[in-house]
Amino acid sequence: MNKIYINYDENALKGTLKLLDASPLRMLVTPGMKISIKPNMVLAKPPSEGATTHPEIVEGLICYLKDCGIHNIEIIESAWIGADTWKSYHACGFDRLSAKYDVPLYDLKEDRFHKIRTGKYEIETCRKATDTDFLINIPVLKAHCQTLLTCNMKNLKGCISDREKRRFHTLGLHGPIAYLNQAIKTHFCVVDGICGDLTFEEGGNPVTRNMLLAGQDPLLLDSYCAGLIGFRADEIGYLQVGSDIGIGRLYDENTELIQLNQDHKPLTQHSERGIAARLRNYIQEDQACSACYSALIFALHQADRRTLDKLSDKIDIGQGFRGKEGMFGCGSCTAGHQSYVKGCPPAAVDIIAFLQNIL
Ligand code: SF4
Repeated sequence: MNKIYINYDENALKGTLKLLDASPLRMLVTPGMKISIKPNMVLAKPPSEGATTHPEIVEGLICYLKDCGIHNIEIIESAWIGADTWKSYHACGFDRLSAKYDVPLYDLKEDRFHKIRTGKYEIETCRKATDTDFLINIPVLKAHCQTLLTCNMKNLKGCISDREKRRFHTLGLHGPIAYLNQAIKTHFCVVDGICGDLTFEEGGNPVTRNMLLAGQDPLLLDSYCAGLIGFRADEIGYLQVGSDIGIGRLYDENTELIQLNQDHKPLTQHSERGIAARLRNYIQEDQACSACYSALIFALHQADRRTLDKLSDKIDIGQGFRGKEGMFGCGSCTAGHQSYVKGCPPAAVDIIAFLQNIL
């Protein structure tokens, strides 16, 4: 349980299959099980916008499960309040996926609901999320304007009624999200880290990372993923509450990271737009891996612009800096620089600490 599986690949389908092969998923499922897949279809935008799950990841998962002898598979989701889940499914190509593999799609807004009491909350949850043998969560790793991070734990908010989604906001989100993860058990997680949004759950500022992660513990994955986009776990309330009530473990130095494709991480293609593109002004890049470059973009985004303008030199990043000297560097490739962030790739949270130190 204390393991996180990571793959770096720009081909989401191939990358998912390789990731799942390395993971224990085959040992956790048995033929005859009903398996429910919960992607993030928050609104009708294609995954390239940074808000919604790539269908290729779900396709990889379906192929893998069928190979395990599982044929009772369904995809469940409800878009956010005011959005049409069917439009989201269509915008993300899930209707084609459903037809190709004969896997039904369900809009949980149309589901039956029941109340589950957990702690001080009574949560109106969708039947399909609880009446299943095995729930697989496939969130997008991205920033959130209120909770800072949205990943596995928050993705379950798509498994409650719209009425309950509204109520969660009045209750402050963090407590209800943590307890929701007690009411609905996630059995396995595959995190879509292909191109999550820099600022907001709605997308529009996607940052390409080309990273896929998997594991059995949603809290462990979320607390690790928080660092990838620049937050400490203790900054995110629902991670702390989740730890207190036993949802799982928080990421720490004892967590085993099993990283695939380490020596062939995809290089950045500079596909950033908007805010992310403007942050390039502070970077000198030469053959940077997208996982490394995206971490630097997330870290720079959190720094105040006036602070960044005090930087005496740009921050060097990329394999082209191996063996070279310089002032500031990001990642192990820049180990010859006067000051650099360790890691291959480093986490955004460590880059932020580095920036605070040099500025
Ligand atoms: S340190 Fe170098 S090799 Fe490692 S992720 Fe960054 S750019 Fe890639």
